[in-house]
Amino acid sequence: MEGERRIAVIAIGGNSLIADPKRPDVAHQWDTVRTTARHIADLIAQGWDVVVTHGNGPQVGFILRRNELASHEVHVTPLDLIVADTQGSIGYMLQQTLDNEFRRRGMHKTAITLVTQVRVDPNDPAFQRPTKPIGGFLTEEEARRFAAQGWPVMEDAGRGWRRVVASPQPLEIIEEAAIRDAVRQGWVVIAVGGGGIPVVENEKGELRGVPAVIDKDRASSLLARRIDADLFLIATAVEKVALNYGKPNQVWLDRMTVSQARQYMAEGHFAPGSMKPKIEACIAFVEATGRAAIITHPAHITRAVQGETGTYIVPDETA
Ligand code: ADP
Ligand code: MG
Repeated sequence: MEGERRIAVIAIGGNSLIADPKRPDVAHQWDTVRTTARHIADLIAQGWDVVVTHGNGPQVGFILRRNELASHEVHVTPLDLIVADTQGSIGYMLQQTLDNEFRRRGMHKTAITLVTQVRVDPNDPAFQRPTKPIGGFLTEEEARRFAAQGWPVMEDAGRGWRRVVASPQPLEIIEEAAIRDAVRQGWVVIAVGGGGIPVVENEKGELRGVPAVIDKDRASSLLARRIDADLFLIATAVEKVALNYGKPNQVWLDRMTVSQARQYMAEGHFAPGSMKPKIEACIAFVEATGRAAIITHPAHITRAVQGETGTYIVPDETA
């Protein structure tokens, strides 16, 4: 395998960081990340160079809650800074647990985290209706305080006020060339955390952060295409994708072509907000590169890459 290393983009979901939502404390996060790092190190030991991307939904929620509780005393932080905070803290946890795995195995590898900005279009229609509520309910007074500091807020059907954000399409990964070069040189790169920090470009070509959330599966797929990855793998809470998920006639899928995936999606087999964005992200990668994408549980990454489990999304002609 030496000299013949291939590049994989591995997108890890919330369950790779918090196994049990009832026990999300830092000690349990370390336990969970350590397990995930072991699975990723297994793949690297088999000759893959890896870029790890990750979600940050729960972590952003915790920071927002701290903002709410402390806002009478300490200034609140805008969402772009919060995403940057989570890229740093989650990146650090992955970096350290991966490095400890490499040391334990005598592998000469080092993980690095790249704070990543992702450009979005200020005219993306998603900005016209920022409907994704984040954080808890606020009183009108609290909501006005957040609004005064640049947060879009919305009254939520008489139940109280909430901050709302748009989820625009990722257009460009600003640090793309650095990620590509670093992984080609053998660094294990952690990037595009939480879908990336959403930024827009002004008339002068300057970047600035915007309060929005980019879908992490979409941004990870864009990265995998742009750095010409050999494999795009989404690690989530299920070993395989199913038809009729959760119903008595549920069927686990080993493999589907892009056309089949589209068909199943149109038939409503993949829930919006969970499995659907993953299928869309895989379709985009497979169509652009002609290579396969895989969806599986973190514990099955190496077996899935060897074709033993997981759900493969493949080009039509290899059906
Ligand atoms: P992540 O944090 O990894 O992004 P999500 O919860 O957003 O995870 O998406 C994964 C979840 O999607 C699975 O745990 C499962 O509950 C759900 N899901 C919805 N439709 C399907 C399907 N057709 N097959 C498998 N899982 C599905
Ligand atoms: Mg998700």
